[in-house]
Amino acid sequence: MNILVINAGSSSLKYQLINIETEKVIAKGLCERVGSPDSFHKHGLDEGEVVISTPLPDHQAAIEVVLKSLVEGPHAPLESIEEIDAVGHRIVQGGAYFDKSVLIDEDVKAKILELAELAPLHNRAAVQGIEACQAAIPGRMQVAVFDTSFFATLPQKAYMYPLPYELYEKYGVRKYGAHGTSHRYIAQRTAELLGEPLSELKMITCHLGNGCSVSAIDHGMAADTSMGMTPLDGLMMGTRSGSIDPAIVPFIMEHEGLSPSEVNDLLNKKSGLLGISGVSNDLRTIGEEVERGNERALLAYEMYANSVKKYIGQYMAIMAGVDVIVLTGGIGENSADMRRMIFAGMQPMGIVVDNTKNLQRGFERIISHRRSKVRICVVPTNEELMIARDTYDIVHAHSQIVPYKG
Ligand code: ADP
Repeated sequence: MNILVINAGSSSLKYQLINIETEKVIAKGLCERVGSPDSFHKHGLDEGEVVISTPLPDHQAAIEVVLKSLVEGPHAPLESIEEIDAVGHRIVQGGAYFDKSVLIDEDVKAKILELAELAPLHNRAAVQGIEACQAAIPGRMQVAVFDTSFFATLPQKAYMYPLPYELYEKYGVRKYGAHGTSHRYIAQRTAELLGEPLSELKMITCHLGNGCSVSAIDHGMAADTSMGMTPLDGLMMGTRSGSIDPAIVPFIMEHEGLSPSEVNDLLNKKSGLLGISGVSNDLRTIGEEVERGNERALLAYEMYANSVKKYIGQYMAIMAGVDVIVLTGGIGENSADMRRMIFAGMQPMGIVVDNTKNLQRGFERIISHRRSKVRICVVPTNEELMIARDTYDIVHAHSQIVPYKG
């Protein structure tokens, strides 16, 4: 069974075609700068990747280009579009409506659009993608997998903000979280890696990429997470500030003469590692600058490590301890130096990194020292596979396809 996984971002569209029986990626690619004159399409597996400049006025056009590339040209894995059995869509915001992945129908689509107020660019792009698939491969089941649904188990004391209660009732102002599919995947993989049931573990999962979030997963259930009503909250990130004193927002608006959308832009696109270092949002570039003695780059590096460290402390406190800490994302998987700094000095809390294991690269592994009470794992995330598995399960529940043992 071939499942097409679609991840529609605000101006991009990533996709993977996955054979669910083997869990192998048959094709993948990316449409970038959708809606801009310089849009392009990258298609193919690593060795045979091609980049084609092509007009992509909107996400519907992007889906059409993607579907064509799956059946035409030298890198086409399929003979006919009919060989796509189902489609799974990543949806950024599921609000309070969706506590799990669902089969898409007109009502689900309407709710995704209704929630666009909380994630305007992403949810609208996702619906365009869904409709383009409905038009191009009519009759195929499509499944929505929400970034937020893993956090449906958050207790009210974790998801409420200490604001006037009416704002929650009127507008749904509360924490929804994000990166849920990634946190769910790495939690499950880590339990498998350790050979222990997820339901018996206290876990802290750290997704450290361009966007960054930390979650407390108590005996398999999300207990808290660092991203909030929007993905701006929580950790310091590549270009996002994460949590700051909220009074800073009106202060900057007044003193810099910024509108709400301009200050939103400043907090989302000009802050974080980029804002502090003044050189880049990319931790590798910042690392190179640190080597050259750039003090602001060093400050950015130290603030980032501190920001992750503080969340680990908070979540240890709310779960009364932790058995496993898991890291993923570009930084979590690759930066041994950042991992070392995050865990530095945590020995009194039972957290000790093994320096040799920390330097190893590129696979799922345990990097804690044998003396460490808390296990520390590095587990590459795979949100696309999680979306494909959910899609399969839902399609199977609605039809008579033979179950696979994934
Ligand atoms: P996204 O959230 O866009 O998917 P990624 O998960 O790819 O982002 O993470 C991007 C971040 O990972 C960047 O800050 C990048 O510098 C960092 N990164 C990737 N590879 C390395 C590496 N080898 N060493 C240090 N940082 C890395």
